Amino acid sequence: MSVIAYVGIGSNLGDAAFNVRRAVRALGEAGCVRQLSALRRTAPWGRTAQPWFVNAAVRLETLLSPHDLLATLQRIERRLGRRAGYRWGPRVIDLDLLLYDDVRIEEPGLLVPHPRLRQRSFVLEPLTEVGAFARGSEPH
Ligand code: AMP
Repeated sequence: MSVIAYVGIGSNLGDAAFNVRRAVRALGEAGCVRQLSALRRTAPWGRTAQPWFVNAAVRLETLLSPHDLLATLQRIERRLGRRAGYRWGPRVIDLDLLLYDDVRIEEPGLLVPHPRLRQRSFVLEPLTEVGAFARGSEPH
């Protein structure tokens, strides 16, 4: 049975908006992209001496388990040119599994809901736009 998941997308290297759009297309491998938020330019977080980001979020209908979805996101990141960098550093593409139905996972390699979700408007705003909290529910 399919479930609804929300994926956050960010880029701040090269043509960031183009990279985000490529990632959205690639997410077809993970399921059916039901909605894409506006693309936002956002100031870098953490390490501020780096280019601004373009951020967006999608609502995805998927048949994949959370772990298989994360593995697919990581495969897409690698294919789109993501290289291991330093934490909070510039990246060609960053894909985060933000929400997966109302599932909670707390494992070393997978935290759902994503911990970044609560803190940052550049995550919350696009998430809200694609309907994550449409039933008046709080982030789980
Ligand atoms: P980052 O470089 O900030 O994208 O972090 C990637 C690392 O975060 C990977 O090692 C993932 O295993 C881990 N991670 C934990 N929870 C999540 C999640 N919900 N979405 C994406 N990556 C996650």
